[in-house]
Amino acid sequence: MTPTPTATAQNLALSTQNAPDTPVISAQHLNHYFGEGDLRQQALYDINLDIHAGEIIIMTGPSGSGKTTLLTLMGGLRSAQDGSLKILGQELNGATKRQLTALRRNIGYIFQAHNLMTFLTAKQNVRMALELHNKYLDQDMDAMSATLLETVGLGQRMDYYPDSLSGGQKQRVAIARALISRPKIVLADEPTAALDKKSGRDVVELMQKLAKEQHCTILLVTHDNRILDIADRIVYMENGRLATPSQATEA
Ligand code: ADP
Ligand code: MG
Repeated sequence: MTPTPTATAQNLALSTQNAPDTPVISAQHLNHYFGEGDLRQQALYDINLDIHAGEIIIMTGPSGSGKTTLLTLMGGLRSAQDGSLKILGQELNGATKRQLTALRRNIGYIFQAHNLMTFLTAKQNVRMALELHNKYLDQDMDAMSATLLETVGLGQRMDYYPDSLSGGQKQRVAIARALISRPKIVLADEPTAALDKKSGRDVVELMQKLAKEQHCTILLVTHDNRILDIADRIVYMENGRLATPSQATEA
């Protein structure tokens, strides 16, 4: 294969950073426990999962089965205790606070409740996510935030405060905030749970579109059967264990 001359330099830079077949998320024999002593309870059992760059994975399964626990571990929001969890090549079991903080800059988070700052406008909320990255400080962060808010259909609403936006609009601001810094991974925990059918669908399609454009990996937890078709792959969690839908007792 002869690479096209224009693409060569860029591809080389990317491939040395991240070999094409290295998973961006890799869990091997991952266990997790809550509580101590007699109260210690196992929440995750022998999780093995590889997710590659650009994949959209949906995780589904009953309430209490361990989905949020796994997502927060992958996001470096909780410490890995047992087994291996590598995110973007970084082993999280035994990682320092500093390593976790550095890792979190490469991850966008979208939660069920939008978690927007109510005292900031839509645009200021999005802009704040950029201000955490030194590399954007000399760029026009207002213009970048405005452009992305236009992309998510909020061009007319960017100076509104969250309280004057609908549930779907707030969740679209949350998506813009999660994606503005072009994270390599987006972790979304039931992002459509508070939305009606149409807004829920719009929100995930938007995530899918932006992720494909930015070649970002998405792991999305949902109970919403109507959005399963956007996934490249579906994994099922039950009682702290992962199964593919065909292995699951109730897929
Ligand atoms: P899901 O997101 O699939 O509903 P969770 O990951 O929130 O499930 O919970 C998995 C299990 O771990 C549940 O039994 C839950 O009660 C328990 N659990 C979750 N978070 C904590 C915590 N902070 N302390 C103790 N137990 C927890
Ligand atoms: Mg949960």
